[in-house]
Amino acid sequence: MYVFKQNLVASENYSIKCPYSMTAEFIVVHNTANDATAENEVAYMIGNKNQVSFHYAVDDQEVVQGLPIDRNAWACGDGANGTGNRKGIQVEICYSKSGGTRFDQAEKNAAHFIATLLRERGWGIEKVKKHQDFSNKYCPHRTLDKGWNGFLQMIKSYLNDIPVISSQGFKVGDQVRVKASATTYATGQIIASFVKNSTYEIIRVNGNQLLLSKIVSWMNEVDVEKVSADNQISVATDSSFLVEIICDELNIRQKADFNSKVVGTVKRGEVYTILQEENGLGKLKSGVGYISLNSKYVKRK
Ligand SMILES: [Zn+2]
Repeated sequence: MYVFKQNLVASENYSIKCPYSMTAEFIVVHNTANDATAENEVAYMIGNKNQVSFHYAVDDQEVVQGLPIDRNAWACGDGANGTGNRKGIQVEICYSKSGGTRFDQAEKNAAHFIATLLRERGWGIEKVKKHQDFSNKYCPHRTLDKGWNGFLQMIKSYLNDIPVISSQGFKVGDQVRVKASATTYATGQIIASFVKNSTYEIIRVNGNQLLLSKIVSWMNEVDVEKVSADNQISVATDSSFLVEIICDELNIRQKADFNSKVVGTVKRGEVYTILQEENGLGKLKSGVGYISLNSKYVKRK
């Protein structure tokens, strides 16, 4: 659909392009009123000295980021203290000057990309604003001509395709058991004892909180564990452990085989995480290769 790229403004130009740190509260949609690619829009924006800037440009093939989203942009025309400029993630849709199929595709890509931004933040469609909401400018002009509600509907349809996933990977539809150790709901109220060790379906996800079926209560995700389809608690598969190197130098082998190629060495005193053991060798977490787990060379911690 589209490729995501970054071409971020140099930090020495923050004072011109994005002087303030920002905690974004919504997304603002723009049209470029130009016919340049996203790549060129961003390259031009970060390369000039004008107080004009935006976070993302989207065309029919790419989303290109030009500013970090924890910094403001100058895009809404509502001044240095304007809500739009200081709280919005600014998304420019390319090719709006001439329109046509490449603009239509850019608009679709922008709708999908905005849907992903909303999902990541647990935001709803009400977080999508238009430039026009903050100043008198008729922007995003072509999107407005085509119909703002149609664009919002497009975002909504993409939202339905993107599963909501919590910080730790829980999603709507998962069966989870409330841990016996859990004490309070996300709201702070005490969990009734019948809820502990009971299994519920996740019906909504918001960040690190899960809304559970039947009890219809928000639970912190740390207080539940996933239950597999056959109702067994899934067994943790993480069997990693730490080793300290106790010889001067130890070879890193490319494969779990003492005859495989040496791709590097580790040194005395260094500590590594081993993901798994195979043929007396341990797989380094870095993915570089394997080292001997012989107790002459390494000490398990
Ligand atoms: Zn605009």
